[in-house]
Amino acid sequence: MAELLDADAVRAWMAGTAQAVVRERDRLTELDAAIGDGDHGVSLQRGFTAVGVALAAAPELSLPGTVLLLVGRTLVSSVGGASGPLYGSALRAMGKALGDAPGADGKQVGAALAAARDAIAGLGGARGGDKTMLDAWIPAVAGFEFALAGGGSLQGAALFAAGAAEGGAEETVAMEARKGRASYLGARSVGHLDPGAASTVLLFRALAESVS
Ligand code: ADP
Ligand code: MG
Repeated sequence: MAELLDADAVRAWMAGTAQAVVRERDRLTELDAAIGDGDHGVSLQRGFTAVGVALAAAPELSLPGTVLLLVGRTLVSSVGGASGPLYGSALRAMGKALGDAPGADGKQVGAALAAARDAIAGLGGARGGDKTMLDAWIPAVAGFEFALAGGGSLQGAALFAAGAAEGGAEETVAMEARKGRASYLGARSVGHLDPGAASTVLLFRALAESVS
């Protein structure tokens, strides 16, 4: 069981996310077709493919923070639309928060995830309940911190966070979108799962797998 998130674990996390995005691409795209423009799965596949290429070309990066900085930069530059800059800023903020630690323990990962959540809120201006990816990020980070405070390991906290992200994403079905493209639909956005919340679940599940 990994007690620390090191550079290899971050690389595994990103590879796992990329695989999940490929596997779920059509589902993410269908979710986005219902309340957006139908590009979410394809956009994220492009982004995480670019991340894989960038990481493979930078084997010298040996700190989790510097790996995440490259991931964030790559997502911002390779994904158009809202989600690229949002995920990119989130992972960049996480990298910045980890600084030059060679391996991050649960507490450091929790603080970095909180910084990522705050970066999404800062950039997108959404709050909980607006039917966005934040509705998965907020409970995920809270769940991570809750599990740690209860004596949980990094792995336990990451597993708990993934479950909380899933619960939060489910709750977006009943919400009316107040940010992003889906907000153009107003009340007609109710009854659909938010695609960005759905992809956030994939990110947190892959995190849990990378530290198991
Ligand atoms: P676009 O809407 O530009 O086509 P994507 O389809 O890739 O971008 O991503 C859509 C997702 O981005 C939404 O489902 C939502 O979760 C997220 N999103 C959009 N706007 C915001 C925002 N202002 N704050 C947080 N998340 C947002
Ligand atoms: Mg879209």
